[in-house]
Amino acid sequence: MNRLERIKGCLLGGAVGDALGAPVEFLEWPAIRSKFGPDGIVDFTPAYGITGAITDDTQMMLFTAEGLLRAYVRGSSRGICHVPSVIHHSLLRWLMTQDHQPGTNVSLDGWLVQERDLWSRRAPGNTCISALKASQGFGFLAQNTSKGCGAVMRVAPCAFFGNAFEYAAESGRLTHGHPTGYLAAGLFADILQRMADQQVRLEHALTESLAVHGDKPGMEESRVALERVLFFFYEGYFPTPERIDEFGGGWIAEQALAIGIWCALTATSFEQGVISAVNHSGDSDSTGLITGHLLGIQYGVAAIPVRWLGQLELRSVIEKVAHDIYRLPREYSGYGGDGDAGIEAEYPGA
Ligand SMILES: [Mg+2]
Repeated sequence: MNRLERIKGCLLGGAVGDALGAPVEFLEWPAIRSKFGPDGIVDFTPAYGITGAITDDTQMMLFTAEGLLRAYVRGSSRGICHVPSVIHHSLLRWLMTQDHQPGTNVSLDGWLVQERDLWSRRAPGNTCISALKASQGFGFLAQNTSKGCGAVMRVAPCAFFGNAFEYAAESGRLTHGHPTGYLAAGLFADILQRMADQQVRLEHALTESLAVHGDKPGMEESRVALERVLFFFYEGYFPTPERIDEFGGGWIAEQALAIGIWCALTATSFEQGVISAVNHSGDSDSTGLITGHLLGIQYGVAAIPVRWLGQLELRSVIEKVAHDIYRLPREYSGYGGDGDAGIEAEYPGA
């Protein structure tokens, strides 16, 4: 499978998981079961008045991608660039789409923020909103101790750039001050990058990623949760709604990552894995998105059910972002670049 299919699979797969989970994000499992039957929700149902609606998770993922693309353009023209600060500017653009005014001057240029359908509130996380509102400049770190899953859920595009771990962890730290909150994000991007670059399966990428990053200070909670999931996988212990609830439901970073990985590791198909990731009492759209990113990168866009892709909100926007990422050189890591990717006008590097 070529790199473009994996990038598209990753971005669209995450968005599809987000959209499947959106109508049940705030429902307990017994309520989901009584509304949708014993298998739970298995198809898009309206959320926010739209069938196939994405949520804040995918919105912020797209603005993170925009930041990475702009950082490439800026680095190409100026020779140097602090990537997390450029991502921060993009996240502040997202904040404006949520009817909040940042404390810093934000330029509303570039094509992404002009997409009117992005100007819609989809239960945005309080931590992200308050940290972005309080920021006093690009690159300003969050002054909180949050370890919600709001950093993990948006960093997948970092996987397609050099320094994936650092970009994800450092941009996660813009909103989440607890090490688990931003290091789990770094680990997620690193796992995705290994799957994309080496074309290895999730189990292998996860093991490698833990070996490289698992002993870093602040990584303890993520490592313990992921080792538990690997043990479950080897023992043939499959995720069920009740077992996912015992795991904590995924509202916080290491749980969301662990549940998303557990559902992807044990998946028999893209469809089955994502369905298992959204049917529980916890943060269904975020765990659905994490599983969708992982299975999308592993199996490519062709594995995503057509009935979901066909109804996915902002599908063309997500596909365009995937294509634009594909145009950049893989080895780009914030310095230099030949500047002829053809994306300069759409991603102003100022
Ligand atoms: Mg959400």
